[in-house]
Amino acid sequence: MIGKLRLHRAALAVLAAVMLPTATWAADATVKLRIMETTDIHVHVLNYDYYRDREDDTFGFSRTATLIRQARAEAANSLLIDNGDLIQGNPLGDYVARERGLKRGDVHPVHKAMNLLGYDAGNIGNHEFNYGLEYLEIALSGAKFPYVNANVYHPDGTRNYYTPYVILERKLKDEGGRERPIKIGVIGFVPPQIMQWDKRHLEGKVVAKDIIETARKFVPEMKSKGADLVIAVPHSGLGTGARQDLSENATWRLAQVDGIDAILFGHSHLQFPSEQFKDFPGVNLARGTINGVASVMPGFWGSHLGIVDLTLSVDDAGKWKLADKQGSLRAIFKVEDRKRIPVVQNDPEVVAAVKEEHEGALAFVRKAVGKTSAHIHSYFSLVQDDPSVQIVTDAQKWYVENLLKGTEHGNLAVLSAGAPFKAGGRGGAEYYTDIPAGDIAIKNVADLYLYPNTLQVVKVSGAEVKEWLEMSAGIFNQIDPNKTEPQALINSGFPSFNYDIIDGVTYKIDVSKPRRYDNDGKLVAPDSHRIVDLKFQGKPIDAAQMFAVATNNYRASGGGKFPKIDGKNVIVESPEENRGVIIDYMFDRKSIDPTADGNWSFASVGKPVTLMFESSPAAEKFLSAAPGVKVLGPGEAGFMRYGLTLE
Ligand code: MN
Ligand code: MG
Repeated sequence: MIGKLRLHRAALAVLAAVMLPTATWAADATVKLRIMETTDIHVHVLNYDYYRDREDDTFGFSRTATLIRQARAEAANSLLIDNGDLIQGNPLGDYVARERGLKRGDVHPVHKAMNLLGYDAGNIGNHEFNYGLEYLEIALSGAKFPYVNANVYHPDGTRNYYTPYVILERKLKDEGGRERPIKIGVIGFVPPQIMQWDKRHLEGKVVAKDIIETARKFVPEMKSKGADLVIAVPHSGLGTGARQDLSENATWRLAQVDGIDAILFGHSHLQFPSEQFKDFPGVNLARGTINGVASVMPGFWGSHLGIVDLTLSVDDAGKWKLADKQGSLRAIFKVEDRKRIPVVQNDPEVVAAVKEEHEGALAFVRKAVGKTSAHIHSYFSLVQDDPSVQIVTDAQKWYVENLLKGTEHGNLAVLSAGAPFKAGGRGGAEYYTDIPAGDIAIKNVADLYLYPNTLQVVKVSGAEVKEWLEMSAGIFNQIDPNKTEPQALINSGFPSFNYDIIDGVTYKIDVSKPRRYDNDGKLVAPDSHRIVDLKFQGKPIDAAQMFAVATNNYRASGGGKFPKIDGKNVIVESPEENRGVIIDYMFDRKSIDPTADGNWSFASVGKPVTLMFESSPAAEKFLSAAPGVKVLGPGEAGFMRYGLTLE
């Protein structure tokens, strides 16, 4: 009996297998497609911070590559697409572009790495234009996958400069294992602001058009050419949704253009889906959709892999329908107890592929690229104008003056704001910038500009410049002119990175007055003014005159809660990092003179007083260049106490 039953079951199984295709003949088949995105890699092929000259677990395509291989192994069908900002953004990129060079036939290290992973398409980001059109063309020719961009045109405005879209012909396995042919359209976009950001490379050679207008033109064309699915790859952030021609961040409106099935976006270096967008209209974080379209933005420098999982159905006539969708991100590290712990290791093939360029870049960041005529240190940066801030403000001013030339803001006087980042405090007695006179290397720039901030410009009046400085001056305690013993000068609750010095104007700070603003930017002493003798070009500043002030994205967007600096008066959001601007400045000048111009100092308080502050014991050897400063004696935690006597 048992034997017979077994035979019977086996026979049924055979019968079922034979019958299966017939049984499902009329029904649509289900097909799952996984679309993976990388974006804003910025030459971070490896998990290596070339400025600090050490490994870092929070970025690196070598890590993302491991995520890609894992995510691909889980899926029956997958595509892999990069959104751009690939060939510029760290010293490895500068090394290839400025020193090693890229000849026709060479493969850029980013493509050596990516070619190992089997990319299906790439989009051109705004930073791709930083080294000019010819360099970009040579770089792109090393990719074993097609590149798209739809909104950059020849100057005639009618012919696309790049291939606007591709229609990938693929065979996807349905859930029954049968191959189903599909045509997948991939279209790319870049912010039209490239015309401003890279004017010197692009003017007269190309024009850039509006992203939405371009999508409305090409998506129907892709459909008419048989695209069953359309994937949009905007190098563009989510944006506000307000209708605005030539908007930089157009993804929110792109999600309303008919015919787009998935959006792989980027540019703003944020994560979607994530809590960062929980209050955004039309966003479903659980589904990873924007206006119902599956969308992802996977961070930056390879921090995340973006995944759009589509469930499709197809009938035997080859008609495709989108049944379900899910956007999600996978990170290369997790955070536990504020520690960042890697969740994947390097892909050894990627590491091996760029070994030679990596070693070249290490030598590049360690060797001299210019000279400084003065010792750059920050030991006295809170009591006198300082070379470690001056070099930053000088570089920013140089960059912004060039950037604004010939624009609607070209007639504004350019001022430049910078703050001492490494000025002891909670960082400890060693936490100072200290670069000897002589050779200066790219890795020294990390010491000058600690954060990967980007440069921004705000437009403010003379009166607002004064309030900006009043807020900065809140770092100082109020000094009693009648006290003869040394008085502690620095309010330790006020971070030094909020002590903005503004170059381009001259001023004095009267620390005998109460501070006008507290640490949170609240006006606490409306009748008090610490900033005196504020002058522009040697004359009292005109409260109504408008200025362009170079600063960073942190300050410009309201960081530190400075009065009236709330993101509303930003006139330039440069994609350039401030430290990148310093490197450009060094390359341009070769030899730099960072000697502080002494544009600010403390005002006399009427009687001699001694302002006490802490600095490193190493500061002692620079006393000759710090008039009025003397050693008072050892402080706590390795600090030395110094006194600045005001006559
Ligand atoms: Mn970017
Ligand atoms: Mg100065």
